[in-house]
Amino acid sequence: MPSRRFADGEVVMGRWPGSVLYYEVQVTSYDDVSHLYTVKYKDGTELALKESDIRSQSSFKQRKSQSSSSSPSRRSSSRSRSRSPGRPAKGRRRSSSQSREHKDDKKKTIQETNLEKLSENNTRRYNGEPDSTERNDTSCISLEQKLKPDLEIERVLEQYSLRPRKEEKKKEEIYSEKKIIETVKKIEKASSKTKELEFGGRIGAFTLIFLLPAAVFYLLLMVKQDDPSLMNFPPPLPKLESLWEARVFGVFLLWFFLQALFYLLPVGKVVEGLPLSNGRKLQYRINGFYAFILTAAAIGILLYFQFELHYLYDHFMQFAVSAAAFSMVLSIYLYFRSLKVPEEELAPGGNSGYFVYDFFTGHELNPRIGSFDLKYFCELRPGLIGWVVINLAMLLAEMKIHNQNMPSLSMILVNSFQLLYVVDALWNEEAILTTMDITHDGFGFMLAFGDLVWVPFVYSLQAFYLVGHPTAISWPAAAAITILNCIGYYIFRSANSQKNNFRRNPADPKLAYLKFIPTATGKGLLVTGWWGFVRHPNYLGDIIMALAWSLPCGFSHILPYFYVIYFICLLVHREARDEHHCKQKYGLAWERYCQRVPYRIFPYIY
Ligand code: NDP
Repeated sequence: MPSRRFADGEVVMGRWPGSVLYYEVQVTSYDDVSHLYTVKYKDGTELALKESDIRSQSSFKQRKSQSSSSSPSRRSSSRSRSRSPGRPAKGRRRSSSQSREHKDDKKKTIQETNLEKLSENNTRRYNGEPDSTERNDTSCISLEQKLKPDLEIERVLEQYSLRPRKEEKKKEEIYSEKKIIETVKKIEKASSKTKELEFGGRIGAFTLIFLLPAAVFYLLLMVKQDDPSLMNFPPPLPKLESLWEARVFGVFLLWFFLQALFYLLPVGKVVEGLPLSNGRKLQYRINGFYAFILTAAAIGILLYFQFELHYLYDHFMQFAVSAAAFSMVLSIYLYFRSLKVPEEELAPGGNSGYFVYDFFTGHELNPRIGSFDLKYFCELRPGLIGWVVINLAMLLAEMKIHNQNMPSLSMILVNSFQLLYVVDALWNEEAILTTMDITHDGFGFMLAFGDLVWVPFVYSLQAFYLVGHPTAISWPAAAAITILNCIGYYIFRSANSQKNNFRRNPADPKLAYLKFIPTATGKGLLVTGWWGFVRHPNYLGDIIMALAWSLPCGFSHILPYFYVIYFICLLVHREARDEHHCKQKYGLAWERYCQRVPYRIFPYIY
């Protein structure tokens, strides 16, 4: 294996990615695995360069003085010195032919440099990897924003010293380069397209649109069976007309719009989300916990007036069908409205140009009606709070059906554990603004169905199961399961808080004990604490909790364990998606992080 040619701290000439321009840079580190040097430009930009893109200063100067002709390489070299970031050009006397040549040359350079900055804005780093589709990078500035107003062009050109000061007089000439702008716009449009399709691409997305509702349908039918063992699959199908009741759909709509009303209440603080690709930050009202309190009060009033909450249990399948129909209509609406929004408002992960794929993953990133954010609202309100209400209905149904004065210990455990989880999510609502769902995924069928159907109707499977399949557990078993849930919760909460606090304020003295790897984006990657234990400690805690939710259902059937099995699959897949995005965002620094923290979710296993 060849050894490295340049030492850390050495000042060398680094080629600007995709161009023939060389700037003075300082080597900050070298990665033995990828053979890439991390170099720092004078304006602070950090890039990962191959050895072939770096030259020693001496060889560079030598070449320059040796060359007497106006060879392209010489032109590039002199240009590179005068146009290095943060370094204005020095004027030079030239003959008329040279000056003509220089003029042409200048146009070319500006074109090149604009295109280079575009690619930098998309990826922030050059490390030989494909362009990132990540559009929520804090430092991302939309190119259109840069090019449209003349003042903006001026600012950008000055910021990067793309032209010598002497030539400022000729800026009108530069601005008239409409073709450049058009070319750049075309490239920007092309680069914002989703190139790498997830979920098995178009075929996978198409299959999931049918598979997900079918899975919910079969799970609910299975749980209703006296013997829900796998041997009894498929369960007998109900009559089609029994699946739909207008009144149930009305109750569902009432629920949805009641939650929407709570969301609109002017209580709770308003915070800003992460910067979008155009630099704008959306505002979000944090009042999910208040919505939960108001819902609890409303349910309390209903119970006080003898409302039979087990109506939910009796019409469970009809509620699921109503929610599924609603989520499908919502997804269709979301897709059609997304066709009218500007390119920059589309989701980085759902802009493939293929109808089925974009419909499934979500085409528009943050669909809003006025200030009402549809995705943010659906993520934590109707489905998540609905899950707790369904669990409570199951608890009451169990008491009624089995003539119990008290719910069973198993039912109490399942209800309490899941209540804790939901309350925690609502209490820490602000943390959702940095999740993949909000920053990367669009709002389409996947999230609409997931939030409104999958979460409330599948996550409540254990409570639903316990109504029809009473399971007695001993106090020591209950204590052991509770301890397991507490351990899972502790890992989940402390890992999430550690990262969220670090992201919010990396200089927080309370986090001074944590070590991190700096990255070119300015964000650090924690390598000690929970995030130094495994790469997704929060997923580990979540999975431990999922197991604790299933254990109270005993070991007679695998059905109540569906959640934990599905959840492991979901988080393993999610981890792979996140890993891919982080690799694009952080390049070499992410690879270093993976070397330092080799296990993804389960220490010494995976
Ligand atoms: P995470 O909270 O795991 O965040 C991943 C992001 O964290 C990365 O993209 C990166 O973003 C940042 N990051 C990664 N490594 C480090 C590090 N070493 N130091 C600092 N930052 C790092 O994302 P999710 O949205 O997947 O999960 C959020 C929570 O929601 C989890 O607890 C998960 O278990 C739970 N969840 C629950 C589900 C359910 O159905 N119950 C479904 C999905 C998730 P950046 O650098 O840009 O900040």
